[in-house]
Amino acid sequence: MRKQVIAGNWKMNKLLNEAEDFVTDVKGQVPSFDQVESVVVAPYTHLHPLVQKAAGSDVKIGAQNMHFEESGAFTGEVSPEMLKDIGVEYVVLGHSERRELFAETDESVNKKVHAAFKHDLTPIVCVGESDEQRENGQANDIVEAQVKKALEGVTNEQVQDVIIAYEPIWAIGTGKTATAEDANAMCAHIRNVVKSYADEEAAEAIRIQYGGSVKPANVEELLGQSDIDGALVGGASLKADSFLSLVEAGK
Ligand code: PGA
Repeated sequence: MRKQVIAGNWKMNKLLNEAEDFVTDVKGQVPSFDQVESVVVAPYTHLHPLVQKAAGSDVKIGAQNMHFEESGAFTGEVSPEMLKDIGVEYVVLGHSERRELFAETDESVNKKVHAAFKHDLTPIVCVGESDEQRENGQANDIVEAQVKKALEGVTNEQVQDVIIAYEPIWAIGTGKTATAEDANAMCAHIRNVVKSYADEEAAEAIRIQYGGSVKPANVEELLGQSDIDGALVGGASLKADSFLSLVEAGK
């Protein structure tokens, strides 16, 4: 049985005091880590205080990006070791907003996946097709290529610790959710892609989230699907009560 992972991707939202209040509010109320993984994915400036606030609780903290280099002349960047050093445990890689607005590529995502493993961070690797690609019947191929490149050179053992987030771009922040059947079909396709080059055990163990306008009203149906193992949630993760109902659904 794969454990569900519910990650709230706050994007560029919340000031520090709001972020701290949120974690204070939810940390005693989320289900135990053995039942479901509850992750708050916050802006860099909030990570250290949030790790401290969440210490000893079942809330885990993730970053929204990082660089793949160890250190050096990379103005404006944050290294994997810096995240690890302050107690961050997860990192979102290759979100479509980073691909579209900040020139993130499949190659850099792959380097970041390796860097994450080197520093013992759990990567949440985002993949997903655009509206146009889906209409042209290219969705499966696009997602397959993204998954293959992102996981290039990753060992069987590491594959089991990867989280993939399938986020169709047309469903992000639009209120348009993929149907549970379509989302599940793509997540099953992703698992088959993983099977084509990692062993059966690894492909069965890898967790695949759905993301794109997930909210309390649709989360149960999505999480009830055979190949969906959690959700990466933007808008509906910003309010504590909404986040709590999402993680409850993951139990
Ligand atoms: P949304 O964002 O839930 O607001 O659609 C999801 C995401 O971008 O991770």
